[in-house]
Amino acid sequence: MRPFKYTKASDAAGAVKSVSSNKNARYLSGGTNILDLMKEDISRPDELVDINSLKLSEIKPTATGLSLGALAKNTETANHPLVRQSYPMLARAILAGASEQIRNMATNGGNVLQQVRCLYFYDIAVPCNRREPGSGCSAIGGLNRTYAILGWSENCVAVNPSDMAVALAALDAKVNIQNAEGKMRSIPFTELHRLPGDAPHDDKALAHGEMITSIDLPKNNFAANSYYLKVRDRASYSFALVSVAAGLELTGKKIKLARIALGGVANKPWRALEAEKFLAGKTASREVFKQAAELEMKNAKPLEHNEYKVELGKRSIVRALEKALAGK
Ligand SMILES: Cc1cc2nc3c(=O)[nH]c(=O)nc-3n(C[C@H](O)[C@H](O)[C@H](O)COP(=O)(O)OP(=O)(O)OC[C@H]3O[C@@H](n4cnc5c(N)ncnc54)[C@H](O)[C@@H]3O)c2cc1C
Ligand code: SF4
Repeated sequence: MRPFKYTKASDAAGAVKSVSSNKNARYLSGGTNILDLMKEDISRPDELVDINSLKLSEIKPTATGLSLGALAKNTETANHPLVRQSYPMLARAILAGASEQIRNMATNGGNVLQQVRCLYFYDIAVPCNRREPGSGCSAIGGLNRTYAILGWSENCVAVNPSDMAVALAALDAKVNIQNAEGKMRSIPFTELHRLPGDAPHDDKALAHGEMITSIDLPKNNFAANSYYLKVRDRASYSFALVSVAAGLELTGKKIKLARIALGGVANKPWRALEAEKFLAGKTASREVFKQAAELEMKNAKPLEHNEYKVELGKRSIVRALEKALAGK
């Protein structure tokens, strides 16, 4: 690891000012991702601004739903009674990620901003557009079994690794952000991550130094009929090959509204808008779930080694919807 300056922030404005004024400074929250990247010499900040003592860890009800502090730990968030009761797909998604020890350290803000797990990104001896803009993508012609099938570009085919982010995309969450001028802004969660296009290194809708302060969850009417399905190579401690966050608002068996987001298939949590639109107004059945899955996956463009993800994606959508329908 290279030497770096460590600063402990005592207020949010000061933290944002410190990071904004130094383009090589980064925030430190749980540290479970940024410190790994520094040890591997992939990230080379010359200053870490520790934000753990800021008062941003509250999880509290609001007039419109629930607010999750950016610094609330993943464990605390997943186990919070209001999250379990009104956003069970989020609790399930968080608990499907990492290990208990990591979830005890990891924060909500850090989780949604974690870096890709592309093995070529981690290998500093090979080209990677995300690590070194313009150098090329080693994964596109390499071992790409676990990579994207939707929304990728020739410049990057990595997938977003966060389970929590998939549920937040399905839940229509909003991200609250503080900037260097002390101003707050709010963006839909689905706009936080960007598709790679020709700038895969610029993959978040945050300017340097902007800090996530909290994430808002709106009320929903599908908590009882929601599910998070994660399909992976190993039963635990493994990233998703494909994951699905699904919620169904029902009147009897009639679908009033469907919310579906996919993980493991694209550079950002993939909101399955075509499937959602198709399902609205239909009577829930395995057959309509299959048609919705076909529709969503018709735009999939698999790479050399991940054709299997197209069928896996369809079956995972159907299974997650069936689980949601059954209230499991
Ligand atoms: C072995 C292992 C297995 C894992 N498996 C999974 C898995 O299956 N599913 C999954 O989802 N995750 C998994 N993870 C990832 C883990 O969930 C993340 O490392 C963790 O959530 C990151 O949170 P953190 O608070 O530690 O972030 P940090 O490492 O502190 O920060 C991550 C990034 O976010 C920035 N940042 C942090 N907080 C803020 C903020 N409030 N505003 C702006 N920028 C901020 C930091 O500067 C840094 O760039 C795994 C990790 C490991 C090590
Ligand atoms: S897929 Fe993206 S992260 Fe991986 S090598 Fe290519 S550019 Fe880098």
